[in-house]
Amino acid sequence: MIYTDTRDSSVKVDFRTAVVNGMNSVTGGLYMPTEFPKLNKSLICKAPEPSFREIAFESAKPFVQDEIPDADLQAIIADAYPFMPKVVPIDPISYVLELFHGPTCAFKDFGARFMARVMSYFNKDQDKPLHILVATSGDTGSAVGSAFHNVPGLDVTILYPQGKISPLQEKQLSTFTGNVRALRVDGNFDDCQRLVKTAFTDKELRNRFRLSSANSINISRLLPQSFYYTYASLVVKNRSWRDNKIENPSVIVVVPSGNFGNLTSGLIAKEMGAPITGFVAATNSNRTIPDWIFSGEYNPRASVATLSNAMDVGAPSNYERIKAMYSLEEVRKLFASYWIDDKGTMAAIKSCHVRTGYIIDPHGSVAWQAWDDIRRGSMEKLSSGFEGNPNEPGLTPNLPEWANDVVNKNAVGILLETAHPAKFGDTVAKATGREPSLPDRLEKVMMLPDRSIPMTSNYDDLREWLISNLE
Ligand SMILES: *Cc1c(COP(=O)(O)O)cnc(C)c1O
Repeated sequence: MIYTDTRDSSVKVDFRTAVVNGMNSVTGGLYMPTEFPKLNKSLICKAPEPSFREIAFESAKPFVQDEIPDADLQAIIADAYPFMPKVVPIDPISYVLELFHGPTCAFKDFGARFMARVMSYFNKDQDKPLHILVATSGDTGSAVGSAFHNVPGLDVTILYPQGKISPLQEKQLSTFTGNVRALRVDGNFDDCQRLVKTAFTDKELRNRFRLSSANSINISRLLPQSFYYTYASLVVKNRSWRDNKIENPSVIVVVPSGNFGNLTSGLIAKEMGAPITGFVAATNSNRTIPDWIFSGEYNPRASVATLSNAMDVGAPSNYERIKAMYSLEEVRKLFASYWIDDKGTMAAIKSCHVRTGYIIDPHGSVAWQAWDDIRRGSMEKLSSGFEGNPNEPGLTPNLPEWANDVVNKNAVGILLETAHPAKFGDTVAKATGREPSLPDRLEKVMMLPDRSIPMTSNYDDLREWLISNLE
């Protein structure tokens, strides 16, 4: 597969280059495959649906062709995914897609674990390790640390702002051993980012060490996230008739979004032939994308803090990829969009619990509320001419092509649950009156000793530490 870049379509690189470079430092653009090959009909039509790993293999294959042989790709997928996404029906036309069954209990495990193994694969002929530096404000750092833990040829240093993330997140970051370590920086997230950026532009340091980043714009994190969209849409298509007597429903996927990497992965799955009719871009008060879909003007802004903090992004990096894939008109046909504030998020966690018995986390709850409003009249109201107000929480005034499928009760929803509710236990307990129990793997982490290393926010200190501690 040839990859190009969102800012210069004359750029042509292979998969390895796209993965190792992360982004194109010359144009500042993001790498994109030049095409989205269709999945085999026999795979899409197979009943019962193929296994998650089979879908993963068949989906990944065209993107790595000629660079990773089939047997090696199989091994990468088997090693990356000892866990599965899970489709859980919560009422006859609503399915929660649980993406938190990986080691760190958030969907980022799917992307980060594939990326780590691919990077290791491309690094296997080198005699020196590849050093990954990551600045994190929470979820990304633990997914990346866990994904690279004990992966040969790679070495990870995580920088996080001490005392500025949740105690559970801090535990998840500070208890790694071996090839992964965390520096607790006396400063804020911006300091951590500045330290990492300065290291990347430090020529002398780069001459000594092979440095790389592992952030969410890497194409090798987006491609694997498409696997679970394909998987879930096939599962739901197969079981729908039994659940709701809808013969051939339109499948609408509702994605709680921040940087819009997850949603971009859904677009890739649809392009490859997954039976998905449309998407709902669901956000918290950081509503840059809903505003863009409504007004046609893209106004990135500073982020505001909310209860669904992994979605607190005011300038979503994958906007650039969505724009490279579709025109605004196409986006408006394909997407509904929706946003809610913190008050709405609390009410959503509660209403999901009361109405279905399902305990949902603050991120997934945004998707639940979007879907529940859409199917219970918001879409019908818009269809019948209601103007709506984009400045108020709720459904953005935009009619996607599939609006009538919802109005005619011919649609089912897949709601992405991106984190385990126990990661946000206080919020969930406040909303539902019930404390979600911690999964064993998180409970275990809470017992491990803190191994984080103190660091100042001064670059010279970081530099000195790296030189004396990295091999
Ligand atoms: C990262 C994250 C999101 C946002 O995903 P994007 O790909 O940035 O849109 C949503 N929920 C959780 C729990 C996350 O960790």
